[in-house]
Order: sequence, then structure tokens, then C-alpha cells
Amino acid sequence: MVYTERTATLEKYLSLPQRGKVIAEYIWIDSKGDLRSKGKTLDHKVTDLSELSEWNFDGSSTGQAVGSNSDVILKPVAFYPDPFRRGDNILVLCECWNNDGTPNKYNHRHECNKLMTAHADQKVWFGLEQEYTLLDADDNYIYGWPKGGFPAPQGPYYCGVGAGKAIARDVIEAHYRACLYTGITLSGINGEVMPSQWEFQVGPCLGIKMGDELWMARYLLHRVAEEFGVKVTLHPKPLKGDWNGAGCHTNVSTEAMRHPGGMKFINDAIAKLAKRHKEHIALYGTDNNLRLTGRHETASLDDFSSGVANRGASIRIPRPVQAKGYGYFEDRRPASNIDPYLVCGIMVETICGSIPD
Ligand code: ADP
Ligand code: MN
Ligand code: MN
Ligand code: MN
Ligand code: MN
Repeated sequence: MVYTERTATLEKYLSLPQRGKVIAEYIWIDSKGDLRSKGKTLDHKVTDLSELSEWNFDGSSTGQAVGSNSDVILKPVAFYPDPFRRGDNILVLCECWNNDGTPNKYNHRHECNKLMTAHADQKVWFGLEQEYTLLDADDNYIYGWPKGGFPAPQGPYYCGVGAGKAIARDVIEAHYRACLYTGITLSGINGEVMPSQWEFQVGPCLGIKMGDELWMARYLLHRVAEEFGVKVTLHPKPLKGDWNGAGCHTNVSTEAMRHPGGMKFINDAIAKLAKRHKEHIALYGTDNNLRLTGRHETASLDDFSSGVANRGASIRIPRPVQAKGYGYFEDRRPASNIDPYLVCGIMVETICGSIPD
């Protein structure tokens, strides 16, 4: 059966009444930073987080526990309308906890949330630019590229329009709509410098919501791409050579930065970031050394730098922000495969706290 016939057949079942039952898809992050999920039938429509019970899964199958003590507990932290099942069905984002009441080793949300709560008075907003690359599901080669070869060099693809420049726009468009349906703060989308590489932006989001919404947007992307038979990779340098890597630029502002006179607070934050370059780089994604080479619109991994409108610096102050004298700054160092809870957590710790000299 060809794909379109299968979709038509599936449609018949998707339109069957659910007899009052609701499906909740519980979602979590595993030991490798990949997403996992499983479905659960509920008797009622959910209107408040408190109505969602804890659940569990076999952590020995996901690298999150040993077989002799394998139950990992799923604690719901946010829920969203499900764009795939629709109706009253929902997607439920969860934190992972061990049975002894401690957060699971790979639960970075818990620590992040503590930091966000501790500095809640500064009302930190984040906006993350998620870059990613599409792969052919059959051979893991870059999607839409000539087999065994390469497309024409980079240049026409960034925000490109037309066949051969924009690859798999249907996947990207479907993902955009799915995000808006769930209420995720998707602020935009664009084609990237390397063909078959795209970007979406989430934000601005207050505090912990940034990590939650980025993880959900990633979940939706993998699910949408799955339906189109396409793979998504968040690797920061999918292909060596003269092809751009993929980042997750992290835009940040505190309340004080967002008002006239805010530039002083932006400069203070940059001075603090300069002192903790190594600590930040350690949490800014695996294989980020392959991307932060000082070429292809990146700064070098070893040196901290900042500048207005400079896309080769670690930190960039956007030109309009400089012109107005307040706004936000962009940390260009994080790789596409970051855990946003780790990055937003250390960001708040560094810029909202006081660092000893
Ligand atoms: P770039 O020019 O670097 O490609 P984008 O337009 O892709 O920038 O992304 C800018 C991001 O900055 C968006 O995610 C947006 O939500 C975010 N942003 C805008 N204003 C603020 C702010 N005051 N604080 C934090 N993030 C912000
Ligand atoms: Mn089983
Ligand atoms: Mn961008
Ligand atoms: Mn980009
Ligand atoms: Mn950017």
C-alpha cells in the first residue's frame, strides 16, 4: 500500500468516537537527550495539571535505570492539546524521578526550575533559535541531496525560495501549524544556510517555560517528520567541510535590560559571562567543538568575545538593541543539541547571581 492510501485508511479510524475517553501521551527525555513517549487512557477531559496522575516506565530500556530497580516515575509538569489526535486528547510533558524520591540523573529540569524560582524577581525571558537538519530515513544522508554527491555551494539557500533551494517545506509548514495548535510560543521560522537545514524560534518565554516549550517543539518536529518519512538530526555539525553547522542561539533579557537604560545591565551580564566561558561551554552541547571553529558565522571554542551585530562573536548585541539602548543579547555559543534546561539554568545562575572575582 502506498503512503497516501495508508493515510486515507488511517483517517477512517481516527474519526471513530472515543466514547468519552481521552488519550494522554506522556513525554519524557531519555539518557541520550532523545524524546520518548507512551499513551494512557483517561476517563475525563483534563482542565488542570493536578488532574494528571504520575505514571512510570521501564528505565532499563532507556538507559535511565538498572534492570534490578527499573521503574522510573513520570511526573507531569505541563500539558498541551494534541495536534495529532486532536479533540480532548493531550500531550503531557513529564519530569523523570527515581523511586527513592530523588530526581533522575538526566532530569535537568528540576535543577533549572530551582534556579528560575530563586531569581524569579528578575523576570528572565529567553528566546531560542533551534537549527536542525533533515536526513533521508533510508540512508541517513542529508535529505534531498544528490546521492553520493553534493548540491551547489552555500549561498542561495538561507531563507531560499524555489525548488532546489527550499527542501521539504511541507514538513516545516506542518510543524509550524502543529506548534501553533498546541499554544507553543513559536515566534518564527526560516530556511538555513546549508540546504535541508532549517530553523524555528521559540520565545520569548518566561523562565522554565523556555525549556518546556523547546522540548515540546522538538517533540512535534520529530513526530511530524516521522509522518513524512523524514528524519531530524540535532547534531551541531552533520557534515564536515564548507557546510554550516547547527546552533541554538540563546537570546536573553532580564526585566531591567528591557527598559530604557537597559544597556548597562546587558554589559554587566556580558562581563559576568566572560568570566565563566569554560563552565558555559561545558553545558553548551556535545560535539560543539566541531562547530565552534571561528568559521561559518561562529566564534572559536576557546575564546570569549562580544560585539554589536557581530555574528562571529560569542555574544552578539543586535543592532536595533544598541540603537535603542535597551533590549536583549544573544549567546551564539550553544549547539543545536543542547538541553535548554542546562543552558537556561546556567545563564540565570551567571547573570542574576554575583560571581566572586
Ligand atoms: P537572528 O537575527 O539571530 O536570526 P531570530 O529572529 O532568529 O534572530 O531570533 C530572535 C529570538 O529572540 C526570537 O526567539 C525572539 O523570541 C527572541 N527575543 C526577542 N526579544 C527578546 C527579549 N527581549 N528577550 C529574550 N528573547 C527575545
Ligand atoms: Mn511491557
Ligand atoms: Mn535566527
Ligand atoms: Mn540561524
Ligand atoms: Mn541568531
